[in-house]
Amino acid sequence: MSLTFTATPNPSPVGAAERAAILENPGFGQYMTDHMVTATWTKGEGWHSGELTAYGNISLSPAAAVLHYAQEIFEGMKAYRHPDGSIWSFRPEANAERLINSARRMALPELPVEDFLESVRLLVQADQAWVPAADEGEKSLYLRPFMYASAAFLGLRPSVEVKYSVIASPAAAIFTGGLRPVKLWLCEHFARAGAGGTGAAKCGGNYASALAGQIEGTEHGCDQAVFLDSSTHTFVDELGGMNLFFVKSDGTLVTPELTGTILPGITRSSVLELAKEFDLSAEERKIPVEEWKQGVANGDILEVFACGTAAIVTPVGELVWEGGSAPSTAGEHGGPITNGIRERLLGIQKGTSEDTYGWMHRL
Ligand code: PMP
Repeated sequence: MSLTFTATPNPSPVGAAERAAILENPGFGQYMTDHMVTATWTKGEGWHSGELTAYGNISLSPAAAVLHYAQEIFEGMKAYRHPDGSIWSFRPEANAERLINSARRMALPELPVEDFLESVRLLVQADQAWVPAADEGEKSLYLRPFMYASAAFLGLRPSVEVKYSVIASPAAAIFTGGLRPVKLWLCEHFARAGAGGTGAAKCGGNYASALAGQIEGTEHGCDQAVFLDSSTHTFVDELGGMNLFFVKSDGTLVTPELTGTILPGITRSSVLELAKEFDLSAEERKIPVEEWKQGVANGDILEVFACGTAAIVTPVGELVWEGGSAPSTAGEHGGPITNGIRERLLGIQKGTSEDTYGWMHRL
């Protein structure tokens, strides 16, 4: 491990009553916990100055490279309280590895896996009162590790100073009162990522570039946008923040293969492993959007769902495009496979279903 973290507790943390009121109805990403972790990397020196401090604003030069050239990456994961009160996260080493892969693509320094795990553990330990109770259903503490170029220099080069930070925010269940299928907009004009680009990295720019498609979708009454491959506009890539799966009548569970333009979701890779528990054979391949449109109409596709850390598994309803739409297969609350996989995954995460894969990591 290259980093040691000093800890200075927040002198005025949020009071118990106010915290309880926030945890009652936390929404998503609105309230931050009492602490944050920060570390600095400087060229020639490596990682140093690891610390846990009070959550607060950061001071940054207006010339900081991140503000001009978007040299920035992040992760998203959750801490869950189990029925015995202990706190766990789901496959955090996979988030650490993905941050390393994102760093390589964005010319940022690699943070060793063990330093990543320690930073997350420290923050959750300090802010454990912010982890919702085990009987609070899907509520959890969302964790946001991120890294950005902080050196003040307007020339274009990999930054000689980089900051790493972790913040946390309590998160409500996305769906209260049962699952609701999402209506998707087929984004045919804007691409999220191109061949050789940064689609497989979790960098801020990918999300900024997806917003225009999201706005177009909202204008057409949809919840989220589906992005296609940018070269041929033929194959399904993913949503702005979730991967896609198709349950087919031949017993296969199909998802778009990782071509470099898709984020390798940790939920995605877990669902691929869970397929066998549902007697499905998992398949990663190119999926023409025509296969989706025709499949839901002729019965070849039984269910469509999206998955990711925030919403776990979400049934997909209607697919809408300029001048047409494909019907939903989801019914009012999604199909049996969608619900089965969702329950199993959530059970493993919340400690109510046996973790036969060794995915959970005690914090
Ligand atoms: N695709 C994109 C573009 C995402 O931002 C996310 C969320 N990280 C996902 C897929 C799902 O990834 P995960 O299952 O690791 O949350």
